[in-house]
Amino acid sequence: MAITLEQLRKSYRTPEGAMHDVIRIRRLDIPDGAQWVITGQSGSGKSTLLNLLGGIVTPDEGTVIIDGTNLGALSEPARDRFRAKHIGYVFQTFNLLQGFSALENVLLGMLFAGHVEKARAASLLERVGLKERMRYRPSELSVGQQQRVAIARALANRPSLILADEPTGNVDPAAGDTIVDLLKEICREGGQTLLLVTHQPQVVARFPDVFDLSKLQN
Ligand code: ADP
Ligand code: MG
Repeated sequence: MAITLEQLRKSYRTPEGAMHDVIRIRRLDIPDGAQWVITGQSGSGKSTLLNLLGGIVTPDEGTVIIDGTNLGALSEPARDRFRAKHIGYVFQTFNLLQGFSALENVLLGMLFAGHVEKARAASLLERVGLKERMRYRPSELSVGQQQRVAIARALANRPSLILADEPTGNVDPAAGDTIVDLLKEICREGGQTLLLVTHQPQVVARFPDVFDLSKLQN
């Protein structure tokens, strides 16, 4: 899906009481099916930008328009429903539920959107190379495998946008390459727009379209 940001501004108050502008973007158009890596130093606002796109953080000013829907015009429950239906999130720390198997974690992801399909959950886990590991709990999987469960969960509800926040931050470089390539391949196959945030140069190098947050700010 296509995304348009207009006059977007988000600031936070520092402990000293001053306002600090984290995001200030005049206009940005992200085309449908794009695969962008968004980079920048720690604290440059990468997570804030992703959370503005996901409707988790609300801007001080400006609009986020996703496929014609202005997130700011939705009520909070409507925004939650929009996110559950259209956006898949992948986090640095996986955010899997420890008491549940890989398969159950993907099924629980489906529950939020109200449409549980066991065969689809199994096929997603197979797609990320975990056919033999579906019954394993997160603690019984390597960190790279845990992140692949999280990718399957992110795809559970057929989102058209995948937001990945430092998805390789907690895995070794080889597992990180696998995760990035898997995300790119799956999103290319399914036509999902992929926005991946990272500060790691080896991850940036795997994307032709690189957006440095410090240069995006205008
Ligand atoms: P990045 O993901 O690039 O490391 P973040 O988007 O997490 O950066 O944070 C950008 C800046 O905004 C940092 O200076 C951080 O301290 C500040 N910040 C983020 N979230 C909050 C918050 N909820 N309250 C106050 N300051 C915040
Ligand atoms: Mg961050």
